Amino acid sequence: MAGNSNPFQEVLDRLEDVNRHLNLPPALYHRLRSPRRSLIATIPVRMDDGSVCYFEGYRVHYNTARGPAKGGIRYHPNVSLNEMITLAALMTWKCAVIDVPFGGAKGGIACDSTKMSRNEIKRMTRRYTHEIAMLIGPESDIPAPDMYTNEQVMAWIMDTYSTIKGYSVPGVVTGKPVCIGGSLGRKTATSQGLVTVLLETVKHLGLSTKDLTASIIGFGNVGAAAAEILCEKGLRIVGLADSRAAIYNQKGLDIKAVKKHKADTKSLAGFKDAEQVSMEELIGLKCDVLIPAAVEGQINSKNANSIKARIIAEGANDPTTREADAILNDKGVFVLPDILANAGGVVVSYFEWVQDIQRYFWHEDEIQKRLEGIMTKAFKHVMTIALDKKVDMRTAAMILGVGRVAEASAVRGLYP
Ligand code: NAD
Repeated sequence: MAGNSNPFQEVLDRLEDVNRHLNLPPALYHRLRSPRRSLIATIPVRMDDGSVCYFEGYRVHYNTARGPAKGGIRYHPNVSLNEMITLAALMTWKCAVIDVPFGGAKGGIACDSTKMSRNEIKRMTRRYTHEIAMLIGPESDIPAPDMYTNEQVMAWIMDTYSTIKGYSVPGVVTGKPVCIGGSLGRKTATSQGLVTVLLETVKHLGLSTKDLTASIIGFGNVGAAAAEILCEKGLRIVGLADSRAAIYNQKGLDIKAVKKHKADTKSLAGFKDAEQVSMEELIGLKCDVLIPAAVEGQINSKNANSIKARIIAEGANDPTTREADAILNDKGVFVLPDILANAGGVVVSYFEWVQDIQRYFWHEDEIQKRLEGIMTKAFKHVMTIALDKKVDMRTAAMILGVGRVAEASAVRGLYP
């Protein structure tokens, strides 16, 4: 994890910061400082050559006071218990910020799925689902896609869980293909939500979208869709990065051509109408909006000073370290925090879950309208707190999210 070897400590430090505003009773405050439950499982997988590889898999429920646990599943070599607990805590605050009736979860497998075949990934997913089946279910915990997982992986999880149950359970995961109970609009929901709150920010700062440029780190589910939607809104995308390369063109990149190049070559490297730069260079190159949409800790104390962007919109989870936050605040950079900025995905996941339970599916315009409504309302609520308490947007979002989780935990009380 770039920039931070113990991200959960940062979650705790940030909780301490926010508790200066919330002043929670000590017992309640302490309850919010640890996950409810964590499962670690060994996942044996028969590889295509006949050998068996063992992977470590996790599923963490951080807090479920507000409803069933909700959170993505990640396949990445850096997946660890610490990372899962960190991301499950962020999911808990995020679901509360946008006021959907979920607690926070996260899961994943430490693996490099880019080096595995489709069949190996399928067998690993099915065995992992079997190992976490005791935790997941529409009433208890609903996974979704995250880094290096997609709707096909969700379909395998849904199928494995349904096989265990003996009947179809579409509501066990969100981000599924539409033909088995997925929701229209889910694929682009995180990016749509991000653009909604970004445009609110642009309005708040008195800027015009026509003159704005953006750079995006990460060109997957979130980053690629964000690039396309921002172009439609009139912004110029000048910088892009994926795990292998970073490219920059002050005049603007042709996103359709970049997508085709990435589909053909699996990388941004070698895209001809742009300068090839390093990741660190890209972070410091001129743009108005910087969108981290890849891994944690990419904006850290080493590069925060070099940032020229006026707005950072966090598509990724936990992309900015606490030290970097302080530097950005001093520089007057407006940071739209992850627990608000990338919440559009879980909003439409909530819609998908509701549709699955009701077996009644909505039109796409209905979904887009409701998504925009929820994101705008959350933005305005967070902004009001920020102005009221004279704090940055992350602290304001945490005051709202952690405050709501604390309220639900307190009113439910302690068992027994
Ligand atoms: P993805 O697997 O679809 O794409 C990840 C992208 O990041 C790829 O382009 C990859 O090449 C790039 N990448 C990986 N490591 C990198 C590195 N070190 N430097 C630069 N680029 C790198 O994943 P995604 O679903 O788009 O998720 C991206 C981020 O957004 C994650 O932090 C995830 O937790 C967060 N997020 C995703 C969703 C969602 O709905 N998918 C919702 C909320 C938040």
